Amino acid sequence: MGRFENYIKDVMYWNEELQKFLQSDGVDRNDEIWSKLDGMTDMVEGLKQPDNLNETELYNLQSKVEELHREMEDYYQKRQSIGSIYVNHPYVKAGEHSLPPLPYSYDALEPAISAEIMELHHTKHHQSYVDGLNKAEKNLVDARKSGDFSLVKHWSRELAFHGSGHYLHTIFWNNMTPNGGGKPSGKLLQEIERYFGSFEAFKKHFSEAAKAVEGVGWAILVWAPRSRHLEILQSERHMLLTQWDTIPLLVLDVWEHAYYLQYKNNRGDYVNNWWGVVNWNDVESRFKQAFHLKWKPF
Ligand code: MN
Repeated sequence: MGRFENYIKDVMYWNEELQKFLQSDGVDRNDEIWSKLDGMTDMVEGLKQPDNLNETELYNLQSKVEELHREMEDYYQKRQSIGSIYVNHPYVKAGEHSLPPLPYSYDALEPAISAEIMELHHTKHHQSYVDGLNKAEKNLVDARKSGDFSLVKHWSRELAFHGSGHYLHTIFWNNMTPNGGGKPSGKLLQEIERYFGSFEAFKKHFSEAAKAVEGVGWAILVWAPRSRHLEILQSERHMLLTQWDTIPLLVLDVWEHAYYLQYKNNRGDYVNNWWGVVNWNDVESRFKQAFHLKWKPF
């Protein structure tokens, strides 16, 4: 057994971990840190007898490892100072949503959508959703503090109506651009063609769904992580008590079929006893996966 065998093993393992890290972090292949890492890989692979290094080889390897170590520390530090922008605002506190700025000027989408509509839609309508959502969240904070949930139905409704309004409009503004149109490409186009048959068929379905929404609402292209296919949905008004752009973590079925045979009309006992069978491991695992999704906070 060579004198430095464990050291070489550690270096190779570290090298692999670094590659995985840079890959998962989406570091550009042209970034200098990649060429430094590749340099070390070449060096390790070029060792004629990795089991039996001579002093010079070991010295060269060690200094390469140290150099890379410093580089990685710099990289982490840079990344963290960029990250700290988000660390300072890691989440939107209850009642602290704000109106996102439009990613273009009010007249940028003309002639498809006039500047007058855009300005009104953004500064009046969207703003009122933001205000309504903040108000609902603050009132529910008060309810949790006081234990008085007599208005929970009202505030849940407000939460859904204004929450969906705020989240959907935030998506909507970014879904549009003055240089838009045409077709998507890559994976999205593949999925559209796979599920809807063709881009034209998708477009027709989406348009018809939009035109046929009863009263006011939205047409929505969604991704279903469960069935792993796209779908087109309609949303009347825009909520029916949901908040679009959210992911369910823990759900409780309170349809009568879920408890009536056993509890008759006593839904309260059913709800209280249900807590005894909640699988928190499952909820945690759903949360862990959902947590990876990060849209810009507003
Ligand atoms: Mn609107």
